[in-house]
Amino acid sequence: RSVPVFAIQGYAPICLGLEDFYTRRLYLRIQDCFNRPIASAPDSWIDVVKRYSKDNNKTLHRTSETSHCINLGSYNYLGFAAADEYCTPHVIESLKKYSPSTCSARVDGGTTKLHAELEDLVARFVGKPAAILFGMGYATNSAIIPSLIGKGGLIISDSLNHNSIVNGARGSGATVRVFQHNSAAHLEEVLREQIAGGQPRTHRPWKKIIVIVEGIYSMEGELCKLPEIIAVCKKYKAYTYLDEAHSIGAIGKSGRGVCELLGVNTADVDIMMGTFTKSFGSCGGYIAASKEIIQHLKKICPAHFYATSMSPPAAQQVISAIKVILGEDGSSRGAKKLAQIRDNSNFFRSELHKMGFEVLGDNDSPVMPIMLYNPGKIPAFSRECLRRNVAVVTVAFPATPLLLARARICISAAHTREDLIKALEVISKVGDLVGIKYFPFEPQNA
Ligand code: PMP
Repeated sequence: RSVPVFAIQGYAPICLGLEDFYTRRLYLRIQDCFNRPIASAPDSWIDVVKRYSKDNNKTLHRTSETSHCINLGSYNYLGFAAADEYCTPHVIESLKKYSPSTCSARVDGGTTKLHAELEDLVARFVGKPAAILFGMGYATNSAIIPSLIGKGGLIISDSLNHNSIVNGARGSGATVRVFQHNSAAHLEEVLREQIAGGQPRTHRPWKKIIVIVEGIYSMEGELCKLPEIIAVCKKYKAYTYLDEAHSIGAIGKSGRGVCELLGVNTADVDIMMGTFTKSFGSCGGYIAASKEIIQHLKKICPAHFYATSMSPPAAQQVISAIKVILGEDGSSRGAKKLAQIRDNSNFFRSELHKMGFEVLGDNDSPVMPIMLYNPGKIPAFSRECLRRNVAVVTVAFPATPLLLARARICISAAHTREDLIKALEVISKVGDLVGIKYFPFEPQNA
């Protein structure tokens, strides 16, 4: 998400000039709004440490005092991150049995029964023949992409793909081209140009072509136009790589992500990547694909050989969460959570629209950025929300283009309607204060 993205969008000269000022000086100050220690689990409410307090002489002191805030900042989409009646006892058991770490790579002593079980379960859940686990979501992209493609290959990446994909693509040695965000038409243009290579259309100068997209774009809240993108990939015989960090578990009737929601056959997506850090309330990541691809990764991927395997209690947390989602815990809690996150997200989004905010993203998506635009509004919005006990994450350059700063709301199934109404009241008040209701709602007969 750095220079090439801005170059396409025409921001390059401004961004390069201001990068040092913005990231080193202003951003460090902005972080003060939210980058504070958290003193509780990332549930629907969290305890945020107030870093400083003033004494009678108005001198600032470090403090361990906390504010109890409605949490609109964590990716705890299904509410599994806090103590769960089914997951937590299993996780405690696994902690006692296996300890927090295997202290070993997968191919040495780092494969427990839980790792094998989770790989099978993930493959079944996402609808692919096999899967492989990694201890970190970020490294799943950055370490796997170079194991799938190298010099002589071509990666075509959505312009708003996550930094872990950008780094994986750059580190692979393949040629990287970017297509306009979520545009199947522009993807086709890039493919035509690259395949023809200035020569007759039959010439194909690349050993392999991989097109990389995300299920829900994390800074936009937008769903991938997957059916259209797959149609183009099929036409030009390119592989598809889908990052479902924010969509797996969070959307689709049974939580199976963007393919289920949009009616895409998972056989049409070659490589399905996801993380366990959002809907499953754990850590780590996975790749699910054909048995051949997974075997290939198990043979050659350095992160499989040289990195300590996923923490066993973290693996157990995901196993238990998926069982709840599938109803295999013997309850209907999973289905209720899925219905709840959809209702919560759609309610919150439509209320924000009614208040006159500019909100990005699609219905059903639990990620909803409220546009602030002017980076100067970030500290005001974030601090005023925090003062009223609503914790919101603001994002800006370099994670977004310089002039497109936003507050990124993440909704959870754990939020009650009461929590959401309270948060909306605060956001509305702060929106008026900061001046970010760009589309004031006017009743038709007023
Ligand atoms: N892919 C995407 C699309 C992400 O948004 C993120 C992080 N939020 C990651 C990968 C990295 O995942 P993790 O935080 O689990 O390391």
